[in-house]
Amino acid sequence: MTQAAGRPQLAYLTAVLDELRVRGTHFNLRVLEDQQAPVCHYDGKEVINLASNNYLGLANHPRLIEAALEATRKYGVGSGAVRTIAGTMRIHMELEERIARFKNVEACVVFQSGFTANAGTVSAILGKEDFILSDELNHASIIDGARLSRAKIKVFRHKDAGHCEELLQEVAHEPGRKLVITDGVFSMDGDIGPVDQLAALAERYGAIMMVDDAHASGVLGRNGRGSVDHFGMHGKVDVQVGTLSKAIGALGGYVCGSKDLIDYLYHRARPFLFSTSHPPAVAASCMAAFDILEQEPERIERLWANTRYFQGELRRAGFNVGGVNTPATETPITPVILGEGRIAMEMSRALFDEGVMGTGIAFPTVPEGKARIRLMLTSEHTRQQLDRALETLTRVAKRMGILG
Ligand SMILES: *Cc1c(COP(=O)(O)O)cnc(C)c1O
Repeated sequence: MTQAAGRPQLAYLTAVLDELRVRGTHFNLRVLEDQQAPVCHYDGKEVINLASNNYLGLANHPRLIEAALEATRKYGVGSGAVRTIAGTMRIHMELEERIARFKNVEACVVFQSGFTANAGTVSAILGKEDFILSDELNHASIIDGARLSRAKIKVFRHKDAGHCEELLQEVAHEPGRKLVITDGVFSMDGDIGPVDQLAALAERYGAIMMVDDAHASGVLGRNGRGSVDHFGMHGKVDVQVGTLSKAIGALGGYVCGSKDLIDYLYHRARPFLFSTSHPPAVAASCMAAFDILEQEPERIERLWANTRYFQGELRRAGFNVGGVNTPATETPITPVILGEGRIAMEMSRALFDEGVMGTGIAFPTVPEGKARIRLMLTSEHTRQQLDRALETLTRVAKRMGILG
């Protein structure tokens, strides 16, 4: 008997879990027993890892590890306070300067995560008189930030700049400010947001333009500078959010923009004000990661070569990797669309049993009827590993009747 058993207060939670079990979408966390590598061990089983966001293999790059160890020896394991009290270390300032230089912007503020960067920024810069124009597939952290701001939320159809413009016209005569916001790369489908068109609209209607580049950081643009660089829109996007948790390999989120935007967030962003700053090891490893982005561009080339190869082979085998009733991927994020949540979870488990780790994703993370396995490529996968994964995917899909 678990400790809470028998107490009625939280019984309604147990009922929800039972419901998930009936629907076949309940899951147990898979536990990684070694490093986040192309081949590693989850729950005691060796698998080809096609599930992590460690796009460039930086999560265990020797230079990041060394940087983290050295910073820990010099500065200790914890920062001791929130940034605005006593927890701003020299290394935090150096990281922000490093990112601002890399992104070619005036200034940068680092948050504890990409989630807090988005939620903290949107909720700080808007109020209840204002309007947020948001792509329907934007990340949960943007939605939460929008809710916290109490601004009015107008959702435009996925990547539909025309629909965004209609909504901008609808609110053009309202007194509040307007914010247009899109993911640079959409995390579940892998398609690229129309940052160029939306930034042009924002300009025309005097709206603030914001991009969430969590999956574009280290992946899109020159040396992984992100979607604004990819589209050549430098100077046209007021707020650029990125993450340090995916391709950069460590943990954190950042906001890039004007000096005053960043100074304002120092004063008003609640996660910045009320939650302790990163351990020095995190800041040091992130700095090493930006050096590697500039010095080892071949990692990004390998990532894209693996992506082209793997997605091409999946299509040739007859898999639906998006593009029919779902958006078509344009990045290393590779959805294998299956439809029913139960099928996606079953296939994920079957793949795991045969040595391939691919995440099953169902409602509410993706819409009903669009459940999928999401496969993530990295620069570090070998051709041989990818071929073995492709062979396993095909065999399991045939056995389950997904492929003919
Ligand atoms: C992962 C993700 C985030 C959150 O980033 P973390 O650093 O993991 O908190 C924000 N936005 C998008 C689109 C993401 O995919």
